[in-house]
Amino acid sequence: MSLLDVRGLCLTLDRGHASHTIVDDLSFTLDRGESLAVVGESGSGKTQAALALLGLQAPALRARGSARFEGFELIGAAAAALRRVRGARIGFVFQDPATSLNPYLTVGAQIAEMLELHQGATRPAALAEARRLLDAVRIADAPRRLAQYPHEMSGGMRQRVMIAIALACRPQLLIADEPTTALDVTVQQQLITLLGDLRREFALALLLITHDLGVVAELCERTLVLYAGRMMETGATAHVLARPAHPYTQALLRARPRLDGDTRVPLYAIPGAPPRAGQAGGGCVFAPRCTQAMEVCVQLRPAAQGIGDARRACHLQATTP
Ligand code: SF4
Repeated sequence: MSLLDVRGLCLTLDRGHASHTIVDDLSFTLDRGESLAVVGESGSGKTQAALALLGLQAPALRARGSARFEGFELIGAAAAALRRVRGARIGFVFQDPATSLNPYLTVGAQIAEMLELHQGATRPAALAEARRLLDAVRIADAPRRLAQYPHEMSGGMRQRVMIAIALACRPQLLIADEPTTALDVTVQQQLITLLGDLRREFALALLLITHDLGVVAELCERTLVLYAGRMMETGATAHVLARPAHPYTQALLRARPRLDGDTRVPLYAIPGAPPRAGQAGGGCVFAPRCTQAMEVCVQLRPAAQGIGDARRACHLQATTP
């Protein structure tokens, strides 16, 4: 049994009589100790899909489908049951540590709270463990740092604190939402190395939400490419990045800045813009921007096809050998 088994996850925004689909029929699995990146542009639905696993999606969104964590159904689970899973068995690193940490509480109190809440630890025992966790996320001078407030720390350090909180109860799964986005390049690299080390140390499965293909290449064995809420392509990261099979993944990779690129040539940009919520037609959602679109693409939604874990949703598969 997979650690996490997501099948047909849909998120819809109901407005009056209209219902807009934000995430459409998303399916993937994640085994123990495995890492999967969900990649997509801003607005592709990746963050809301991850939040929905813990019942934390935006209040206006309705979740359907199934997401089983160690056999336990997360979608539609009672709030009390989800609270027991959140933090204790699934850790979540939110996108922006500056707004996710409580500015009124010391870092020590915020880490200790997790252990008191989920494990019934006493405050002294929880603070002792918090100190060990700061060591684990490579924050030096842990006793002094525990007494500090978030505003007294740098962005990189606050992100490490977020990771320490997420790991406090030794979860089996860590969901990290754009954990390096707000950081400068040097700190970004340190954090990528740290996440890799912690995965091995804590035997963690990692679900990484990101738009950064460089981070994906360094951290994740498998990749799922999401566009306008739909899965475009999934497979082994090495394969998806080296030989992308879907026109959208190919365009994403082409739009990546390269250090060895010719600076006189303008950077490639995918023409057009993603559809707004509710504007995707009945065919392929990428068709208006796809340079290889055919007539069938605007009429018929391509089904995900492939062998084993390598799948893509594209009509080209049926027409090109
Ligand atoms: Fe392009 Fe058609 Fe494939 Fe969509 S289904 S990505 S429009 S070729």
